[in-house]
Amino acid sequence: APHLVVVGAGHAAAQLCASLHATDWPGRVTVVGDEPGLPYHRPPLSKGRLDAGEPGAAEAAGADLIRPEAFYDDHNIARRESVAVVAIDRAAKELTLRGGGEDERLGYDLLVLATGSLHRRPPIPGIDHERVHTLRTAAEAAAVRDRLGQASSVVVIGAGFIGLEVAASLRKRGLGVTVLEMADRVLARVTSEEVSAFFADLHRGHGVDLRLGAGATAIDDRLGGLRVRLGDGDAIDADFVVVGAGAAANDALARDAGLEIGERPFGGVVVDAHQRTADPAVFAIGDCCNQLSHLYGRRMRLESVQNANDQAKTAAAAIAGTPRPHVSMPWFWSDQYDVKLQIAGLSTGHDRCVLRGEPAVGQSFSAWYLQGGKLLAVDAVNDPRAYAVAGKLIPHGLTPDPALIADTSAGPKDLIA
Ligand code: FAD
Repeated sequence: APHLVVVGAGHAAAQLCASLHATDWPGRVTVVGDEPGLPYHRPPLSKGRLDAGEPGAAEAAGADLIRPEAFYDDHNIARRESVAVVAIDRAAKELTLRGGGEDERLGYDLLVLATGSLHRRPPIPGIDHERVHTLRTAAEAAAVRDRLGQASSVVVIGAGFIGLEVAASLRKRGLGVTVLEMADRVLARVTSEEVSAFFADLHRGHGVDLRLGAGATAIDDRLGGLRVRLGDGDAIDADFVVVGAGAAANDALARDAGLEIGERPFGGVVVDAHQRTADPAVFAIGDCCNQLSHLYGRRMRLESVQNANDQAKTAAAAIAGTPRPHVSMPWFWSDQYDVKLQIAGLSTGHDRCVLRGEPAVGQSFSAWYLQGGKLLAVDAVNDPRAYAVAGKLIPHGLTPDPALIADTSAGPKDLIA
C-alpha cells in the first residue's frame, strides 16, 4: 500500500486525515509534527483561551483537539510528535526527521506539505526578550497565560486580527492594554476604512490605548518589566509585550527541496487546482501554499481554517483518484468583546463600499465591497444574516442593486433576487 506522509500536524493535516479516511484509498498515513500533541484548533488561542478564567482545564479535557486521539488510533494513522522534517530528498523519496535524538530517514510514496505559516518578527532591538511573546501555538498561548497572574499591563504590537483579539481578551482579564499600529488604521490589510474605524472605536470604548501611526523602535528591560520606545520619543512601560505583526508562508523546506515558491508578497508552495506541486508525488495544503483563486483570478495565499480544510479535501480527492478542483469562496471570522465579525470573500481591490446599517458600536451592520460594479466581499458585524446572504451571492458572481443593499427596510433575503 502507498505510504503518504503529512508534514505538519495542524488544521490542514487533521482534515486531510479525515477526508482520506472517508474515501477507499488503500494507503497508510504518517503525520509528522514538530509540536507536542495532536492537531488542535488555533483560533481560540487569541480568543477564549486567553480570557478564560481557568486556563488549561478545557485543554486537559482535550476539548480543543480537532479530532480525538481515538480517531487516529482507529484509522491506523501513525503520528510522530515533537519531530521536525528538516529535509526532503525528492529523488530518493525520503525525509530527514529531527526530534532530539539522532536524525532519522523516513520514506514516502506521496508527500503532503501542511507546514502552515510563521510569525513575522519586526527587526526591533529587544524583540527577543523573554517577556516579548508571539502567539501561534498552544505552548506560546500558555506562556502568555502564565504572565497574567502577576501582570497588570501589556503592549500589543500590531493591530491585525491576532493583535486586536489579544487586546480584547486581555482587556476582559482586566489588564491595561496599549496597542501600537504602524499604519494609520487598524486591520488595514484586510478591511475598509469604514470597518477599521468601527473597530478602533470599539477598542477605545473598552479602554484600550490605541495608537495609530505608532511604531515601536526599541524594547528595553526595566526592573521585571519592559519599556517600549516609540518613534516619536514617547515610551510605554508594560509587564510584557505581545507581537502580532503578521505571518509568512512556512515554505523554506519546500524551497530547499527545489519546489517552486510563489512571488512576493505571498510566497508559499505553488500548487495547481488539485493542490499538486510540479512533482507528482508532492502536494501542499493550508497556509503554506500558493494557489490560483478561480473566484478572483489571481494567485494568493490564505491564512484561514476554511482554506486549510477545503484544500485538504481537494488534496484527498486527488489522492483518492476522484479529483475535484478547488473552487471555494474564502471566509473568515474574528471575535472581539461581544462583536463577531464574519467575512465572506476578499475585499482587496474594491472601488466601492456600500454600508448596510450604521457602523456604530452596539449595532449590527455590514459593509459590501464592489469592484467595477461586481460584488467582491462582505464584512458582517454581528449580522449573521447578511453574511449568509453574501455566501449565496459571491460564489455565483451575483451582485444586488447597491440601492437595495443600503436599504435596511428590505430584508437580507430580498438581496437575492
Ligand atoms: P497550522 O495549523 O499552522 O499547522 C502547521 C503545523 O505544522 C504546525 O503545528 C507547525 O508547527 C508544523 N510544522 C511546520 N513545519 C514543520 C516541519 N518542518 N516539520 C514538522 N512540523 C512542522 N483562522 C480563521 O479562519 N479564523 C480565526 O479566527 C483564526 N484565528 C487565529 C488565531 C491565531 C492565534 C492563529 C495563530 C491563527 C488563527 N487563524 C484563524 C488562522 C488558522 O489557524 C490557520 O489558517 C490554520 O491553522 C492553517 O492551518 P495549517 O494546517 O495550514 O497550518
